[in-house]
Amino acid sequence: MTRTKEIRGNIKDARNHIKKRDPINLDFNHFERMISHLESNSKKCHECKILYTDVENYFEKIKENDYHLDRRDKKDSKVLSETIIKHLKKDHNLFRQGYYMSIFIPLGTSIGLVSGLLFFEKTILPTILGLTLGLLVGVVLDATVKKYNRTI
Ligand SMILES: [Zn+2]
Repeated sequence: MTRTKEIRGNIKDARNHIKKRDPINLDFNHFERMISHLESNSKKCHECKILYTDVENYFEKIKENDYHLDRRDKKDSKVLSETIIKHLKKDHNLFRQGYYMSIFIPLGTSIGLVSGLLFFEKTILPTILGLTLGLLVGVVLDATVKKYNRTI
């Protein structure tokens, strides 16, 4: 079994165990995606290599504790995932899933609303149109970055 496969297995086990026991949803889905990005970058990037080991150690540790997470463990997981996301975004040009939609939907909607107010004396139709266009652009761009494996 490869190292990444083993870490993935640990993440999956942790998720299954904790879901049963703890209603507070820890988002471990991110870690499964992040670990493959960290793996593929770790040959060239020292920081990815360190973060990769951090994830590995974290999930080993909670496995050893039989998936009983204390407050500290929860905080650690949050800090770790935020550090990784920040690094992948900044140094490897990766995007969060739905990143473009989160930009273009509000943008399209406000452009629609403003041009409705300025040019048409109606706001509902231009606003809906703007929203739809924003959604379309967002969906296409998000699908594109996903296709090229640029999402975290
Ligand atoms: Zn890196």
